[in-house]
Amino acid sequence: MINQSTHKKIVILGGGLSGVGAAILAKAKGFDVFLSDKGKLSDESLILLQKHTIDFEEGQHTLEKILQADEAIISPGIPYTATVVVELLKKEIPIISEIEFAARYTTAKTICITGSNGKTTTSSLLYHILKSAGLNVGLAGNVGTSFAKQVAEESHDYYILELSSFQLESMKEFKADIAVLLNITPDHLDRYNHNMQNYVDAKMRIVNNQTEEDVFIYWANDPVIKSEIEKIKPYFQLIPFAEAKAEGIQAYKEDAHIYIHVNNNTFRMKQDQLALQGTHNLYNSLAAGLVSKLLDISDDTLRQSLTDFKGVPHRLEKVATVRGVMYINDSKATNVNSCWYALQSMKSNVVLILGGTDKGNDYSEIEELVKKKVRALIFLGADNTALHNFFDGKIPLIMDANSMKTAVDLAYDVAQKGDVVLLSPCCASFDLFKNFEDRGDQFKECVRRL
Ligand code: ADP
Repeated sequence: MINQSTHKKIVILGGGLSGVGAAILAKAKGFDVFLSDKGKLSDESLILLQKHTIDFEEGQHTLEKILQADEAIISPGIPYTATVVVELLKKEIPIISEIEFAARYTTAKTICITGSNGKTTTSSLLYHILKSAGLNVGLAGNVGTSFAKQVAEESHDYYILELSSFQLESMKEFKADIAVLLNITPDHLDRYNHNMQNYVDAKMRIVNNQTEEDVFIYWANDPVIKSEIEKIKPYFQLIPFAEAKAEGIQAYKEDAHIYIHVNNNTFRMKQDQLALQGTHNLYNSLAAGLVSKLLDISDDTLRQSLTDFKGVPHRLEKVATVRGVMYINDSKATNVNSCWYALQSMKSNVVLILGGTDKGNDYSEIEELVKKKVRALIFLGADNTALHNFFDGKIPLIMDANSMKTAVDLAYDVAQKGDVVLLSPCCASFDLFKNFEDRGDQFKECVRRL
């Protein structure tokens, strides 16, 4: 536990949910707290800061004040290259994440889930299972309410933490009791100088500080994870899962059933009873199932909760069927790999809406599936040049849209009975939308108005 007398002043950079949560906990623990956000704070943040009488500023970073900190907590959205962070580093002021800070004040068991894709789905599914089993569990990190705020105001025995590479970057002494790494594929490379290894290193920090009592659950067929494990020669417990049975694999699919082997116990259920369908979701269910069995959740509860989970909005979310055409909202597919899984799970012809803020995408990953399944491509972005450069001449029908309404109207015109219109953009949403939720909500709204 940190010695508060040597860390009197805590500065928090970023006033979103995680920053405000950290401020609330720091205040509750008696620190002198100052929160600074370069942008505008949301009403929700303002109300909370005022309620807890926390000193803050917005629209600027006042360096003189910030550099007085004994320790700084930075929000995951702020890169290490930001001027304010560079200044903190120059003064050798320790920088940590909200997660690291909050973990100092709880003895709860932490289950940390990361990966390029599937984090929210797996975290939410696992939360549903553990809640259904009656465990006192919190869901935090990238999803749910802030971890620090929960530590300040609630008292859980377990926390499921969804961790992005950004959050993992500023982890120091933090340790996951159970770490889950779903996959590592290129994403956010703009933040990592287009260097894949930097991104991989950030993801692999999920196992930092793990001891022989701790567990690392991972997807065995991921080539990147495999080679990283060989490099670190881990002494914590390894629990791999994969699509097919093989030597050492503890969760897999065989003969239309899923199997989970943990502690000499075998859990088995029919794959078609899983609430989440598609190969990618098989992985998510296996990972959540492994954690559940490690926590001794009964077979009945696990089976029931894997079946009745409602899914997460904006992830392959079925919106409606209009004139025989099914509309699916996969707005959260913000990289090429997640779109690949979406396309792969489609059983009919697809009108694909994609585009947005390109993070240095390589579309060749989806080229074959697009050629095989896609009837028409609709590019929805402020600048569709990269998409045109790649796809022009490869697909007969390509159209541009600069609003969701135009995109949905175009899709409606070209889709044929039995087709699927899929919004799975491969890109971030910030060029035309507030965020991926806004993009998905607009899609749903436009579909409902058809
Ligand atoms: P994250 O929180 O990591 O961004 P989500 O659970 O929100 O992931 O899912 C985002 C998208 O990624 C989904 O829309 C789906 O298309 C795809 N996806 C989900 N799980 C996986 C997985 N295990 N592997 C690859 N893609 C996945």
